[in-house]
Amino acid sequence: MLNYKLLIDGDMVDGDDTMGVINPATEEAFATCARASERQLDEAVAAATAALPAWSAKPIDDRRKVLIAIADAIQENSEDLARLLVQEQGKPLKDARGEIFGAQAFFRHFAGMDLAPKILADDTTGRVEVRRKPLGVVGCIIPWNFPIVLMAFKVPPALLAGNTLIVKPAATTPLTTLKFGEIIKELVPPGVVNIIADNNDLGGAMTAHPGIRKISFTGSTETGKKVMAGAADALKRISLELGGNDALIVLDDVDPKAMAPKIYAAAMQNAGQVCIAAKRIYVHESIYDPMCNELAKLASEAVVGDGLEQGVQMGPVQNRQQFEKILGFIDSAKEDGKIIAGGSRKGNRGYFIEPTIVRDITDGSKLVDEEQFGPVMPVIKYADPAEVVARANASIYGLGGSVWASDAEKAWRVAEQIESGSVWINKHGDLQPHIPFGGAKLSGVGAELGEEGLNEFTQLQVLSMARTDRPTR
Ligand code: NAD
Repeated sequence: MLNYKLLIDGDMVDGDDTMGVINPATEEAFATCARASERQLDEAVAAATAALPAWSAKPIDDRRKVLIAIADAIQENSEDLARLLVQEQGKPLKDARGEIFGAQAFFRHFAGMDLAPKILADDTTGRVEVRRKPLGVVGCIIPWNFPIVLMAFKVPPALLAGNTLIVKPAATTPLTTLKFGEIIKELVPPGVVNIIADNNDLGGAMTAHPGIRKISFTGSTETGKKVMAGAADALKRISLELGGNDALIVLDDVDPKAMAPKIYAAAMQNAGQVCIAAKRIYVHESIYDPMCNELAKLASEAVVGDGLEQGVQMGPVQNRQQFEKILGFIDSAKEDGKIIAGGSRKGNRGYFIEPTIVRDITDGSKLVDEEQFGPVMPVIKYADPAEVVARANASIYGLGGSVWASDAEKAWRVAEQIESGSVWINKHGDLQPHIPFGGAKLSGVGAELGEEGLNEFTQLQVLSMARTDRPTR
């Protein structure tokens, strides 16, 4: 069986323990993975602390070169990384290739970003300069839905800014990240990037660790609250990218047949395990029936199977806990609405769930009000556009959202009223490295990507000088 190791201080090392990693398509362990202890977390933090002065003192162009070298290395190893990602995460190979491609593109993009000081004043009275300095050792905590691309939201800006890192993937998807460590080991100085794997038990210790100055966290809202609480004592910097319950609103002038495939994909990509998946679909009553029928047709025709098999459009759900949770959502939907496609587990081996469409369901039911994070789509009828905005906003979450219409200007005016960090028009989800992304309400704190995302990995320093060669008043 393949065996994956931790990256600590420039070396691939065994863990103090090991754990099996399950392929969600077979429910069988296909690899063993090193599992770090708290002692090894301390070692990783010590290595990152020791590496910090030299790394942060390097000219930014040297750090840019390292990011480019990492991007090249990801590209060179992309097929191996993608196949491994399918085995541990479950997604179809085409999507895994897309994720790996995205990761290298993010490294490349951040390599081109700038952190030059901003001059706010420079005249006879003085000079004021705003600088962006590194924070120190940064902990990056990643979930299991997009292990590689979400890592690439964090690692390149953090490195460009001169920080050193501890990266911790989720317990059920550690392998591609450890393989990434193996690939970049010779490209970064020892200790600059450390990658540890745990059995979902080191996140708290990372958050509380006195040697870590910032936690960049992506995961559930419940765990995000723990990170915020754990970081409070040391006033550790945090950025939290958390859960969502995105509303997708379809106005009355949409052609159901033309738009249904895009709306279906917005909800079902990655078997619905996307923070910004469309999780509540509000459709105007005048086109409700044809839209439900089109969505049900797409769900019934979808090819569900092992992500390594040709032609598969949807893989299994990533882990048993999530699989059982989604089956619970389906059970509740049987009571609260009408299932018109899917509605059960597929087969009896692997965490496969039939893509499921539920109609005649409304707000106040579990499937509409909570984050399902799986391939179960509630389609909700509405009559009044003003009222649907209020319903979309009546959520603890505020991550993304979208409005769809033939008249895009009309959709824009509705979109302005949605209380979430990102709102898309005639598309749902468009994360690019130069566009900031962050949640409102219980969906997050801070932002990733873009200049805002880069700044999150920096400490502001203002240098302000009086010119003494002239008398000041
Ligand atoms: P999770 O919160 O269970 O786990 C995320 C990570 O946190 C894992 O690495 C886990 O080991 C670690 N962790 C566990 N306990 C911890 C603790 N006490 N302190 C610190 N870290 C700890 O989330 P998940 O189930 O892996 O991911 C699914 C959730 O993530 C969904 O709610 C989804 O919407 C959200 N998500 C958000 C975004 C975003 O960008 N906003 C992106 C992807 C996923």
